[in-house]
Amino acid sequence: MKLASKCVHSGYHPENGGANALPIYQSTTFRYNSTEYVGDLFDLKAPGDFYTRLSNPTTDVVEDKIADLEGGVGALLTSSGQAATTLAILNILHAGDHMVSTSTIYGGTVNLFSVTFKKIGIDVTFVDADAPDEEIQKAFRPNTKLLFGETIANPAIAVLDIERLANLAHRNGVPFMVDNTFATPALCRPFEFGADIVVHSTSKYLDGHAVQLGGCIVDSGNFDWTNGKFPEFVEPDASYHGLSYTGNFGKQAYIVKARVQMMRDLGSTMTPMGAFLLNLGLETLPLRMKKHSENAEKVAAYLAGRTDKIEFVNYPTLPGDKYHDLAEKYLPEGKSGVIAFSVRGGREKAAAFIDHLKMISLVVHVADIRTCVLHPASSTHRQLTDEQLVAGGITPGLIRLSCGVEDVEDILEDIRQALDKV
Ligand SMILES: *Cc1c(COP(=O)(O)O)cnc(C)c1O
Repeated sequence: MKLASKCVHSGYHPENGGANALPIYQSTTFRYNSTEYVGDLFDLKAPGDFYTRLSNPTTDVVEDKIADLEGGVGALLTSSGQAATTLAILNILHAGDHMVSTSTIYGGTVNLFSVTFKKIGIDVTFVDADAPDEEIQKAFRPNTKLLFGETIANPAIAVLDIERLANLAHRNGVPFMVDNTFATPALCRPFEFGADIVVHSTSKYLDGHAVQLGGCIVDSGNFDWTNGKFPEFVEPDASYHGLSYTGNFGKQAYIVKARVQMMRDLGSTMTPMGAFLLNLGLETLPLRMKKHSENAEKVAAYLAGRTDKIEFVNYPTLPGDKYHDLAEKYLPEGKSGVIAFSVRGGREKAAAFIDHLKMISLVVHVADIRTCVLHPASSTHRQLTDEQLVAGGITPGLIRLSCGVEDVEDILEDIRQALDKV
């Protein structure tokens, strides 16, 4: 099946007379007839759900669907995007290890890496994703276990050169993990360019309607965990009677370990109801991503023409945009719905523009069906001085605009009337 068909059908195959829409198994537990079978479940010898912290029939379907959409061998849903990134990395690194991350990533991930990981003994070096290979290479150390980046990152709307960075990671014998939240598998499938693991905040486009927090980890199955750097994947796990993940699960070693070790112990599970809501969003993902992208392209072009009120616009379809060529390569079918632009006159004028908007909502969120805006200088980055903002790539007048699926004329009209009043 092609992508839109997979979004509707993957993962769920109703039996004769079965529910045609995905049922919600609102049950924490599952009943078995024999102690022997339950023993085999616990030894990971027999398939089946036994406790919803580890797996659930509703959640299983949505995991299989996302794995299929990304072209991976397995997926694990989590309670949020932050939980996905945390589990995905703790599945590989432990105290004393080091990883390299591009610096243009989600703010919450920056905090996770630079504050919380530091406390548990994991060291992260941030690099400029656009720096030459030799420069990025300098960040690698003997104890480096991972390279991390984001397909499309705020506020520059920077597009990641996935293939180049995957090669760099592999030359160093480490996996390349990509946060594919903003692109979604409808626009970019990082495994096709050599990424090894994908993480998502499903709270954004995958759900798409801003109703359910969630996250997902997807395994390509392609990374060789037996290369000597990752003994925890190869050597016997004492908590599973000496089972070896690569020995017993082959290509699915990473995602099985994430579930049976990380999710078992950390427990940031997605609920069956959450998985059901996420699935509703997934069913229409390609339709929505097409509309988000078309709207954003038109809105970006309009904003770029309003040089009277606007300093600059970041969106990769604009001629001369720094990421134009990379976006053509990695996002040929649409560049997603998020635009960043800066209003002339700094904090005060940007705030005035937002306060004059009528249909477009002011929310601390992006990537859902409703067009929305956020002004970092007065919200998420409000404690920073103008100088500190600029150092972080954020001008005081910067606005992040997430184009929804409304008629583009209405989005443009709202922006026009608000700009005219500033
Ligand atoms: C929102 C977001 C996250 C965090 O996800 P939550 O579901 O809010 O925990 C991670 N990465 C990116 C790119 C995001 O936009």
